Amino acid sequence: MNANDVALVTGGNKGIGRQIVRRLAQQGLTVYLGARSPERGRSAVRELKRESVPVRGGRPAADPGTTGGPDIRFLPLDVTDPRSVEAAVTKIETEVGRLDVLVNNAGIMVERGAPTAEITAAQLRETYEVNVFGVVTMTSACVPLLRRSPNPRIVNMSSGLGSLAILSDPANPLARRAFLAYGSSKAALNALTLIYANALRAEGIKVNAAGPGLVPTDQNAAVPFPRGDRTTADGAVVPALLATIPADGPTGVFRGPDSLEDV
Ligand code: NDP
Repeated sequence: MNANDVALVTGGNKGIGRQIVRRLAQQGLTVYLGARSPERGRSAVRELKRESVPVRGGRPAADPGTTGGPDIRFLPLDVTDPRSVEAAVTKIETEVGRLDVLVNNAGIMVERGAPTAEITAAQLRETYEVNVFGVVTMTSACVPLLRRSPNPRIVNMSSGLGSLAILSDPANPLARRAFLAYGSSKAALNALTLIYANALRAEGIKVNAAGPGLVPTDQNAAVPFPRGDRTTADGAVVPALLATIPADGPTGVFRGPDSLEDV
């Protein structure tokens, strides 16, 4: 990792993505915060910058926009819209000319606890548009810019609910909690991660998957089981580590919250 590195985090306006933006910016990276809503994206950038400004007498000691604080930039980006993706990549190319890190964080879960047998193909399509096809659109659009980096890295936000090993073990509580659209989309994402890793290994582009652990966020607000007590900051640790691995680091691996030492 180089302090001048440039990163892009999709779905960076809230939840775990926002904390990934914060961690990477704290390490000196220039971070593009991708968000499909200009309002939510700009407001997240403002708040992250404000947090980094020292407070004196109850007021920010300086205008967050004018200090040498973290370099966090709002990037309009809907991963399901190829024109939005193209415009985002063009903006990064024009402003900084390359990309060192792509974090495919944007994700949705549409089931909201409905019984598996009632989940429709339309719900799978909706989920796959973001969790799978969005990742493919982002990856193919960003690889040309990543090729200009001395140590390019892609991190895909996955889940234990997409692990075929876990799903094949009926005794595992996660297997019983997996949702059809979400779980299968993350299983597909794990397969994509491996296939991209193998295809891009010769070019030095590392592609890994991160499991943040169970974090109560808007995504899983309606699930009918305990949502854990991990914070969004906890959930950002593994993806941020994978985003900053050195050139001799791993590729084609899944790292969950309990395997930090392996990163
Ligand atoms: P949140 O719901 O808090 O955040 C999801 C983010 O994705 C939001 O910024 C959302 O934007 C964005 N997003 C959704 N659709 C699109 C789109 N079409 N284009 C661009 N951005 C989009 O969820 P989490 O922080 O929990 O999830 C982050 C990632 O971590 C996801 O991939 C999720 O599947 C994964 N994950 C989460 C776990 C958890 O326990 N929370 C466990 C395992 C994996 P907007 O605000 O506009 O909706």
